Amino acid sequence: MRTDSPLVLDVRELLESPGVQKPIAFSEPVAVGTDLAKLDGDLLLDLTLEAIEGGILVRGELSGAYTGSCRRCLKPLDGVFDVRASELYRSEGAEVWEEGYAVKDSKVDLEPMILDTVGLALPLNPLCREDCAGICPRCGADLNDGPCDCGPEPDQRWSALEELKGKLNG
Ligand SMILES: [Zn+2]
Ligand SMILES: [Zn+2]
Repeated sequence: MRTDSPLVLDVRELLESPGVQKPIAFSEPVAVGTDLAKLDGDLLLDLTLEAIEGGILVRGELSGAYTGSCRRCLKPLDGVFDVRASELYRSEGAEVWEEGYAVKDSKVDLEPMILDTVGLALPLNPLCREDCAGICPRCGADLNDGPCDCGPEPDQRWSALEELKGKLNG
């Protein structure tokens, strides 16, 4: 864990005062997402930390903007997201679980939680619009601009075979 990261928070004091809620709000660029949709600019963190039985409860909101490309036509697109987080960082000495987050050296590292939570909040199949027509698999024309000259799609049952033939013919 990089202890100099702003995403690593010292919770020593908090651990000694159960029940006290500590609000934290800051923004920070984080590398999260895929080529289809990734965080653009800073992630806004608006969280509350609280020492509870078993560890540190981290909850609040993560929000920001993303850029990516349309899954069907590959045009650039963007959007915003706003996701709620509520995770327990287990105390040192508590039973260690394979999964989940843990307090280490009296610190919590928000990054893994951010990667998980924001990763799920970003669209898996971003579309420039619901009814994006995509690009023609044969000539590559953007079908949102109108039909291309390739004619109607061949029967779906044959398309796998055509694809295979295409591969064989190189
Ligand atoms: Zn599109
Ligand atoms: Zn075409």
